[in-house]
Amino acid sequence: MPIDAGKYREVLAGLGGKVKLVAVSKTKPAEDIKELYDLGQRDFGENYVQELVDKQAVLPADIRWHFIGHLQSNKVKYIVPFVHLIHGVDSLRLLKEIDKQAARSGRVITCLLQVFIAREETKFGLDEQELAEVMQSAPGLKNISIAGLMGMASFTEDPEKIRSEFHALRSLFDKYFPSAAAPATSSILSMGMSGDYKIAVEEGSNMVRIGSLLFGKRG
Ligand SMILES: *Cc1c(COP(=O)(O)O)cnc(C)c1O
Repeated sequence: MPIDAGKYREVLAGLGGKVKLVAVSKTKPAEDIKELYDLGQRDFGENYVQELVDKQAVLPADIRWHFIGHLQSNKVKYIVPFVHLIHGVDSLRLLKEIDKQAARSGRVITCLLQVFIAREETKFGLDEQELAEVMQSAPGLKNISIAGLMGMASFTEDPEKIRSEFHALRSLFDKYFPSAAAPATSSILSMGMSGDYKIAVEEGSNMVRIGSLLFGKRG
């Protein structure tokens, strides 16, 4: 399906240059990604390891690939050589495996910790206690850089519920990544998808992951 260039520019303009747009291209063909690439987009997000590896092989080398899905430890090695940012780290075990593979590749991999904020559904992510534990252990991992947090709100029509979940994540972000502590680096708060990104930005998101709004509905 052809990309709606007008929609893309509208979303970008709405983000006002301060919020990074990750175009979520899962299940969409490489040609669609190339179309958006030709409009200037460089950050793309994928959920499945094999699909990401296949697309990376055939698309321009300057694309920054974001892994946003649930990553299994035994598949880390396939994406570590090229991945730009891993959003969904939800266990210390996974973080340690990324560190180990990153050392082998001679890279430092930037990661976000996924926090469970959706009260209604079972989604992947750390609770507050687990987040505290991972944050304590992380400095010992030399090939990992934890840049911030990622979360998904409940799938609901209730905007106030979504807002309160994003607000809770923002509070944790401020606690663990105070901007004054790292003036030179910019910490990342990855929250917001096609249906809720405007609320997420109002609540302090600085990275949104948008798929269907740009690429059309997934089959
Ligand atoms: C699929 C997906 C998105 C994009 O969802 P849309 O509703 O199509 O914008 C964002 N984040 C994650 C983690 C996803 O799995």
